[in-house]
Amino acid sequence: MSLPPSLISSLNNTNGFNKEAFETVHASGEQVVSIRVNPLKPYISTSLDVWQEHPSTSLRAVPWSSSGYYLSERPSFTLDPFFHAGTYYVQEASSMFLEQALKQTADLSKTLMVLDVCAAPGGKSTLLQSIISKESLLVSNEVIQTRVQILKENIIKWGSSNVLVTNNDPRDFSKLEGLFDVLVIDAPCSGSGLFRKDPEAIKEWSEENVQLCSQRQQRILADAWSCLKEDGVLIYSTCSYSTEEDEEILDWMKEKFKVEGLRLKIEQEWGIDEAQTSTGMYGYRFWPYKVKGEGFFIAAFRKKEETDIVRLKIKHTQLATKQEATVAANWLQSIDGLSFIKQGQHIAAVPIQWNETIQYLMQELKVRYAGVELGTIAKNDLLPEHALAVSTILKTDALKVDLDLNQALDYLRKNDFNISSEQKGWALAMYNNVPLGWMKLLGNRINNYYPKEWRILMR
Ligand code: SAM
Repeated sequence: MSLPPSLISSLNNTNGFNKEAFETVHASGEQVVSIRVNPLKPYISTSLDVWQEHPSTSLRAVPWSSSGYYLSERPSFTLDPFFHAGTYYVQEASSMFLEQALKQTADLSKTLMVLDVCAAPGGKSTLLQSIISKESLLVSNEVIQTRVQILKENIIKWGSSNVLVTNNDPRDFSKLEGLFDVLVIDAPCSGSGLFRKDPEAIKEWSEENVQLCSQRQQRILADAWSCLKEDGVLIYSTCSYSTEEDEEILDWMKEKFKVEGLRLKIEQEWGIDEAQTSTGMYGYRFWPYKVKGEGFFIAAFRKKEETDIVRLKIKHTQLATKQEATVAANWLQSIDGLSFIKQGQHIAAVPIQWNETIQYLMQELKVRYAGVELGTIAKNDLLPEHALAVSTILKTDALKVDLDLNQALDYLRKNDFNISSEQKGWALAMYNNVPLGWMKLLGNRINNYYPKEWRILMR
């Protein structure tokens, strides 16, 4: 692996940089594989047991994460039904540090409004959903339209209802003054931190791109700044080693806004380097020769600026009728805490305490997904959506059909296949107690309702 010489020379005076160790770790070809399990689904233990019993993998906890594990080798995630069911997310270990950064700077037991500004494909957003209280609301935003689909897919699989997926430019959030308690900006960057994982990315790296990324990062921060409340927390991160995208951005923040840089507690054995900038801001560097993870940079700030709070003026509501809500309720564990909204013929369940805010955001932003989509109301019944099958709110006594591994993979490939069942109607395709999606039982055969665009193409 040939690293760009200008990157190496630019890093010479960077906190914690060791040229020889840096080159060796990139030449080693070592691949660190890690997953983060979904604590919102009641069957994580099944998923973990399977990993533990797998002869070629062993689990070791990621030290700064409550639900992250290293695997000793990379299995075929595509051919693992648990992966498709949202029981875990394949996430690079250093990125999981977001959990520490937030737990140490915000009171996560409180009801919070959280905005993930640069969210696709959803690694940070699914982590945020795992650690915020169920009364909190996450707005998971991605500006690039083609990347919203993968974000939506991962959010649906994670399964909880306290979330909105939006497709907006960061500047669209500037009108939502003081609305959010927490902003997460995992900024687009020059990507040098991922060179070991993705050597192809080396070709794209240039000093000019570092400058462009730095300007874009400033623009995103400046655009999103006003939607953070006074005393709210902003977490900024990149997977770049370049100081222009890391420490220099912190200094720029200090110069431009009233912010307090927040210092995090780091255990020595984690191997994470603390950098204090000339303006007294704190940043945390992950070097792959010191931590078991890829290159990463993260910093936390508190907003120290008086900020008005936007008034939520709702022009029209989009609530389901009472009758539609009753039909939907038949499919759910409980309707406590839920409210039902309608977009076209689709009905979705959202947390009732966020009803007003969600209606307002649906008016002001390009909301691409809200809560848990339940389905379409047809003739006083529900044509259920896949999202309901893999959600955490579906009733527990739904009809179920247990599949073995081959049948589960057949199901995920969207093949129709025969099973013998006396029963007819909607049933959950289950693999080791985990719902994979819907099927319709028709005597001795089934209709497969797995989403076509998500099906496994690999043989
Ligand atoms: N947070 C994601 C995760 O953990 O899965 C990864 C985010 S990635 C580092 C940066 C994201 O920013 C990409 O999805 C990219 O499409 C988006 N992006 C690119 N240009 C942007 C811009 N000008 N404003 C906001 N987001 C942008």
